[in-house]
Amino acid sequence: MTDIDRDPQTADEKAGGATPFRGMGETASMDPAQAQAPEVTETVREVIFDVKELQVTYPNASAPAVDKISFEMGKNEITALIGPSGCGKSTMLRCLNRMNDLIVGTNVTGQILYHGEDLYGPNVDAVQVRKRIGMVFQKPNPFPKSIYENIAFGPRIIGMEGDMDQIVETALRRGALWDEVKDRLKDNAFGMSGGQQQRLCIARCLAVAPDVILMDEPCSALDPISTGKIEDLMIELKQDYSIVIVTHNMQQAARISDKTAFFVVSLDENDNRTGTVVEFDDTEKIFTNPADERTEAYVTGKMG
Ligand code: ADP
Repeated sequence: MTDIDRDPQTADEKAGGATPFRGMGETASMDPAQAQAPEVTETVREVIFDVKELQVTYPNASAPAVDKISFEMGKNEITALIGPSGCGKSTMLRCLNRMNDLIVGTNVTGQILYHGEDLYGPNVDAVQVRKRIGMVFQKPNPFPKSIYENIAFGPRIIGMEGDMDQIVETALRRGALWDEVKDRLKDNAFGMSGGQQQRLCIARCLAVAPDVILMDEPCSALDPISTGKIEDLMIELKQDYSIVIVTHNMQQAARISDKTAFFVVSLDENDNRTGTVVEFDDTEKIFTNPADERTEAYVTGKMG
């Protein structure tokens, strides 16, 4: 059985105790001698995704959409993917939960290790992968069902145990939506505002207890107040989840992310476009002291 197939709790117990869902900062029981030891403040960064030389070529394309992509994404971090349109950010994001598998004929080479395990390995079930690695899209896409049923749908499909009312309430609370909708759970989700619908989609994703949340421009269709609520929510959620976000909003990347990967497109001799990562670093460094002049031009708005 692969790490991905395992029950999340079992996998986390094996990984050393704290679950990716909750309990960050919990300490395993210690003997009294250790309890006297000075507090160790240094934390070790745990890698969730290790991308090595990733190349993705869509069917019938003359050149790869992305090539030579290598960087690591950490646990309980928000990683932002930024760069001009068409440089492969969404392609990269979709590789992280094997959504590109759904485009028949897409060729993915290189390697993505998820918790150290080959995400594209022969024994890995892509459906299981998508259960552990959820995705929220640019445009809120609730099901044409009640608010309650939107949340209950996923847990029912995967046969999640427990009281469904409780599962729904917990997911809506985690999605910062409960107080706004608790009295109208039977109403159709389409009656909610755009921002509420997007938080519902996030709550729907959380309901199946994922490990990672991928977000593809989740605020681009929202007004500034709704955007602020989603950003606050993301910062809260990173305590328990790891988040990778594609955003065109530089301020957003700077405000919420810990690490940033900057993508550009380069042209080959036949003008075929291929995206690659120019620079990956702490977000603060990318925005204040980037190593590459193309990054600086982009984050300061000199290159679009
Ligand atoms: P970004 O998210 O940075 O805007 P994308 O990953 O959407 O970039 O696109 C990168 C390149 O891959 C573009 O040239 C785009 O046309 C191409 N592409 C994206 N999705 C598909 C697809 N489903 N089939 C074929 N080509 C695609």
